[in-house]
Amino acid sequence: MTKETFAIIGLGRFGGSVCETLVQGGAEVLVLDKSEARINNYKEIATQAIIGDAQDENTLKSIGIRNFDHVIIAIGEDIQASILVTLMVKELGVKHVTAKAQNKYHAKVLKKLGVDKVVHPEKEMGIRIGKSLLSQNMLDYLDLSPNVLIAEIKVSNQKLVGQTLVELNFRNRYRLNVIAVKRQDEIIISPQAAQELQFDDSLLVVGKTKDVEHFSSVIAD
Ligand code: ATP
Repeated sequence: MTKETFAIIGLGRFGGSVCETLVQGGAEVLVLDKSEARINNYKEIATQAIIGDAQDENTLKSIGIRNFDHVIIAIGEDIQASILVTLMVKELGVKHVTAKAQNKYHAKVLKKLGVDKVVHPEKEMGIRIGKSLLSQNMLDYLDLSPNVLIAEIKVSNQKLVGQTLVELNFRNRYRLNVIAVKRQDEIIISPQAAQELQFDDSLLVVGKTKDVEHFSSVIAD
């Protein structure tokens, strides 16, 4: 199988961390930034690091942007540049485009331009932190759709400790499926009904957001 190829335009904190993660995962990554200093920081990390202005269509053509499987547009502050580059990248026929939005209006325009995934890291992280502060036992979550999520919930409540999933009548009572139990470094995948819960376990559950929130509040001490 051939390796997937990625091009990242803009090496701020967001573009830079996407680059590092992709390279660590074994992907081929080209980075493009108009700042020589930023490119120098990634010369040893990325497969290819190019200095250039992405607003210039010839630059995009010369790096063969259309041949990449995924293009990530990580220009933040200069919204006009982000929009123009997105438009050109789409027109040049790139199949999968991810773009970083600075605000909700920017996000709206990027979606109209046909971006597959619009990300708003500051906002998304703010929501994540807010949710975990509101519900101290919800350690993390992943939205699967606007009203379905996977959540990691800590078991510290005496009502649950020492009980099995069947004794708790978990699925019927809470309308959630337990997909794994995390116990220190161990992960018990697809736990049996007879799985007993211990203090400090965390449960990976999947279900409707309202049911996850309900479960999380019911087991709060
Ligand atoms: P972060 O929050 O991820 O640190 P940011 O939102 O502050 O980033 P910027 O610093 O505005 O984003 O832009 C990220 C990078 O994009 C910068 O390194 C900048 O040099 C680069 N960049 C901006 N415009 C262009 C362009 N037209 N062509 C190439 N690179 C660009």
